[in-house]
Amino acid sequence: MTIPQDLRRTIEFFEKLPGIGPKSAKRLGFYLLRMPQADLEKAAEHLGQLKTNTHFCVQCFNLTDDEYCSICDNPQRDKHTIAIVEDVLDLLSFETGNHYNGVYHVLHGRIDPLNYIGPDDIYIPQLIERVIRDQDSIEEIILATNPNTEGEATAMYIKKELFRKNSMAVLSVLL
Ligand SMILES: [Zn+2]
Repeated sequence: MTIPQDLRRTIEFFEKLPGIGPKSAKRLGFYLLRMPQADLEKAAEHLGQLKTNTHFCVQCFNLTDDEYCSICDNPQRDKHTIAIVEDVLDLLSFETGNHYNGVYHVLHGRIDPLNYIGPDDIYIPQLIERVIRDQDSIEEIILATNPNTEGEATAMYIKKELFRKNSMAVLSVLL
């Protein structure tokens, strides 16, 4: 049987997603056909606007609809403590723990020489700039990169770089 074209294209779209094989893609495609039209239109609208409406926070590079993310914008959060995380998913798992009340800096990656990713390819220069700019108010920097080779190399680089810039905040860098 020939699958009608919109259904086929939808299935092909799902196949591009990580962890979705051809069989699951087909199942999802057929499942959507049974959903109410209004739900599909809403979802299509969100998908269509996803990239245009989602920005990086100008302060911490978390995702946001606005200039600042909901964490930087929250007066209850402790702005003296910055946790450095590799990506937004790491930030979200930090938040689920619910014990952390500081703010973040999202690197959007890790230093990974084998894949040609250097410090300037992720948001390290912006971090250094922020720490230098706000050094009078920053009391603690938590290096919360992942505990693997690349994550640790990234943390080491940031630590060294902060020392090199002679920032006061460096004194309380945790590893
Ligand atoms: Zn933010």
